Amino acid sequence: MRNKNFIIFSIITVIFVFTLFIVNYINYSKINYIEISKKVLYEKATSLFNNIVNTRQWASNHGGVYIKAHDGMKPNPYLKDNHIYTKDNELLIKINPAWMTRQISELSNKKEKYYFRITSLQPINPNNMPDKFEKRALKFLENNPNQTNYSSIEEDKYHYLGTLLVKKSCLSCHQSQGYKEGDIIGGLRVSIPIDTYNENVQLITSKTDLLYMITFLTSIAFISIFTFAVQSIYNREKNILRLNKTLEKKVKDRTKELSKANEQLTQISMQDFLTNIPNRRYFFKVGSQSFNVAKRERYKISLVCIDIDFFKRVNDTYGHQIGDEILKLVSSTMNKQIRKADILARTGGEEFVILLHNVDASGAFVLAEKIRESIFDTPYIKRDYHINTTVSIGISEIEKDDKDLDDLVAKADEALYVSKQQGRNRSTIYKRT
Ligand code: GH3
Ligand code: MG
Ligand code: MG
Repeated sequence: MRNKNFIIFSIITVIFVFTLFIVNYINYSKINYIEISKKVLYEKATSLFNNIVNTRQWASNHGGVYIKAHDGMKPNPYLKDNHIYTKDNELLIKINPAWMTRQISELSNKKEKYYFRITSLQPINPNNMPDKFEKRALKFLENNPNQTNYSSIEEDKYHYLGTLLVKKSCLSCHQSQGYKEGDIIGGLRVSIPIDTYNENVQLITSKTDLLYMITFLTSIAFISIFTFAVQSIYNREKNILRLNKTLEKKVKDRTKELSKANEQLTQISMQDFLTNIPNRRYFFKVGSQSFNVAKRERYKISLVCIDIDFFKRVNDTYGHQIGDEILKLVSSTMNKQIRKADILARTGGEEFVILLHNVDASGAFVLAEKIRESIFDTPYIKRDYHINTTVSIGISEIEKDDKDLDDLVAKADEALYVSKQQGRNRSTIYKRT
């Protein structure tokens, strides 16, 4: 679970860093684009500035130009020698560079919304007094002699002011103010409309805003998808683990049930259904092992074969059910006489065997007699019935020649046959003939 949180945290961090990088890149591109737009404005303003400076220089080089007076035009009162008359008595008005600049500016303003103006911190003509922007620009340029221009964007215009230096040709008018060649006499201000610049800025701003939005939404989507995917994978694994555990438990329970059932089956298959003592299969299985061990370890085992006398007659006289009851009684009587290590089994209809460990034939004989007598002394009594049962017994013990349990059984059977022959209700030890 801690691993899952770490993966989700890592994914969010990676996406967050990636998003920051993209946002930064978009922002950087936007700033670059705006800077380029500003540069276009700057270059336009510089080129206009240079044009005017050159035109002004041309006029200054000629000491100003004279034009025919027209439309009520009056000579400039701030100029010395501001007019002359031709020999035909025609008035020629002197246009100095500053006046010329103002006139070109008015024309530009009408036609193209460009605006020029000559200004100075110490103007001869009060009309050339600097406005707020010009004052700021002139002060800046005065304090930063390395800079040749100052620009700023204000409201709907780009304002540019470049320095005007005192040239030799200027001294005729401005020497009286204490200027010398190379001094900053003032500045030429150029203002140009910024509609296109504004449109560009608006366009890039709306486009970058859209990109910010897309980046933000994409990041959220990625974070959601990855988080959901990780969560689903972990949930699935958790479910599989839980299912596995349930399955394991089920398999364990089933195996337990099966082995219990198997045990029961084995027990059933090895047990006699009527008397509940081991059956023939069990006797031969376990008895064979005992026989082999006894042979190897050279200790005695003996076999006692018991057969109920005239049992057919019992059945015929009292019925099969009573016969069954007597079989149970005989079996339980024998069971009481034997030790735990001995094996008592029902090997046939009314035939039983007892395998005795560490007991020879004479020891077995003693037990056989005890059993025979106790069977006789335990009659079947029920309602009007009082039935005494006798058994004939054959006994054998393990000998060198015996190869397997069958040999021991065969010898005991032979002895049993002798008991029957000799009148029943007796025990006989096998003797080789
Ligand atoms: P013998 O003394 O020579 O052994 O005579 P017997 O009648 O006991 O011997 P026999 O082999 O002729 O008959 C055995 C009888 O045992 C036959 C059968 O009816 C009876 N028997 C075998 N199994 C069962 C059983 O499970 N229940 C009952 N009630 N009788 C059985
Ligand atoms: Mg029999
Ligand atoms: Mg019998």
